[in-house]
Amino acid sequence: MEPHLTQFGQQMSRLTGVRAIMKDIVETLQADPTVGWINLSAGNPVILPEIEAMWRRYTHELLDSDHFGEVVCRYGASQGYEPLLEAVVDFFNRTYGWGITRRNVLITPGSQTLYFFAANCFGGFDSQGQMRSIVLPLSPDYTGYGGVSLTPGVLKSYRPTLDILAAHRFKYRPDFDHVQIDHTVGAVLFSRPCNPTGNVISEADVKQIVDLAAPYEVPVMIDSAYAPPFPNLAFTDMAPIWAENVIHCMSLSKAGLPGERLGIAIGDRKHILALECFQSNANIHSSRYGQAIAARAIQSGELAELSRTVIQPHYATKFDRLEAAFDREMPQDLPWYLHKGEGAIFAWLWLKDLPITDVELYHEIKQEHVIVVPGSSFFPGLQGEWQHTQQCIRISLTATIEEIEAGVVAIAKVIERVYNNPCKAHQEAQQLVLAAAREE
Ligand code: PLP
Repeated sequence: MEPHLTQFGQQMSRLTGVRAIMKDIVETLQADPTVGWINLSAGNPVILPEIEAMWRRYTHELLDSDHFGEVVCRYGASQGYEPLLEAVVDFFNRTYGWGITRRNVLITPGSQTLYFFAANCFGGFDSQGQMRSIVLPLSPDYTGYGGVSLTPGVLKSYRPTLDILAAHRFKYRPDFDHVQIDHTVGAVLFSRPCNPTGNVISEADVKQIVDLAAPYEVPVMIDSAYAPPFPNLAFTDMAPIWAENVIHCMSLSKAGLPGERLGIAIGDRKHILALECFQSNANIHSSRYGQAIAARAIQSGELAELSRTVIQPHYATKFDRLEAAFDREMPQDLPWYLHKGEGAIFAWLWLKDLPITDVELYHEIKQEHVIVVPGSSFFPGLQGEWQHTQQCIRISLTATIEEIEAGVVAIAKVIERVYNNPCKAHQEAQQLVLAAAREE
C-alpha cells in the first residue's frame, strides 16, 4: 500500500529532472557489464590525485591534532565551524577586498541544501498569503533546482536569447525584454558557470539582474558551484560578484569533497540569519569533519592554488579536445551548435530542427554504447511550449579524453543518420523508447 503523503510529502518524494533519467542510465550500465559503455552522463567529479592527496594530508593533520575530539565528538554552532568561517572571511577579504565579517557567512551540508533552505525561506506563500516565486532568469539551468521548493509552482524560468557566434557555436543570454523581477519575487537564482551549458553570464548581465532585484530587496543567489576561487572551473575571465542583495553560494563538491557535503553562503546579514535559523531547525549544522579540513585548505591558500593549477586545466583541456572532435566529426552542413565552453564540467549541444526528441536521440545514442543526458531535464520551472527544450543533449567532461573523443565519433554518426533519414529515425527511436518503458 502507498503511504499517506501530505502535499509536501508528495512534492518531495518524486524524482525530478535528471534524477528521473538517471534511473534508466544506472539500469543500462548495470544490465550488461560486458558492454564497454562510454558514460558521458556523469556529474560526479573526477578524483584527481593531487586533490585527493591534499584532502588526505589535511585529514591526517586533523587526526593528529588536539582539535580532533572537539571537531567530531561535539555539536557546534549552526552557522558553521568557527575556523572555517574565519578562513572564508580572511580569504575573500584578502583576495577580493569584500570587507565581510563572519556574520556574513553560513556553512550548509552541500549547496543543494542551501538552495532548499532559500527556496522555502524566500519562495512560496508569504505572511500575507501572497505567492512569491523563485526566478531562474535564464533557462536551461541546473536540474536540481527543480526539486528545491516544497510549494508547487514556485519556480519561474525565462527563455533566453540565443546568440549564434561562429559557425556551429552559440551562447545563451538572459532576455531582459521578458525577465520580470518585482514584489512578487522571493529570490533570483542561477548558476555561473552553468550546469548544464558551461555558460558564464556576463558581468554586465549579472549586474543588470542584481539592479532589477535591488529596489524590491530581492536576494540574488549566484550559484558558484564551479566558479573561482574554488573549484575555479571557469575557462574565461570571471570573478565573483558582490552586492548588498547578492548571496554568493559556493560548494566544495567540485573541489574534491562531494562526499563531505559542504556549501558556503556569503551574503547580507539578514539573509544569512534567516537561512541559519532554517538550518538550525532542519539539521542543526553541517558535518564538522569536512568543515575542519576545508578550513585548513582554504586558510593555507592551497585549495585555491590547486583549483587553478590542477582542477581547471584538467577540464579545460577536455573541453578543447571535445570541441576539436566535434569540428572534425560532425557534418558541416547540419545545423548543430555547441554552447561556448566557458566553464563547469559539461558540454551542451543544440541540434536545431532535430527530427526526433532529445529523449529519442538519447536512446539512439545508447545503441552505440554511449550515454549522454537528454537536455529536456534542464529546464525546471519553464512554462509553455518551446521546441528547443527537446533539441539539446548534455555531455560530461568527466570521462577520459579517449572516451570523450570516441563518444563524439558515435554521436556524430547517429546525428548524421537521424537528419538524413528522419522518418526511419523517428520510427526506430519510438520503438527504443517503448522498449525502455516496457523494461521499467
Ligand atoms: N549547483 C550546481 C550548478 C551543481 O551542478 C550542483 C551539483 O552538481 C549543485 C549545485 C549541488 O552541489 P552540492 O554537492 O554542493 O550540493
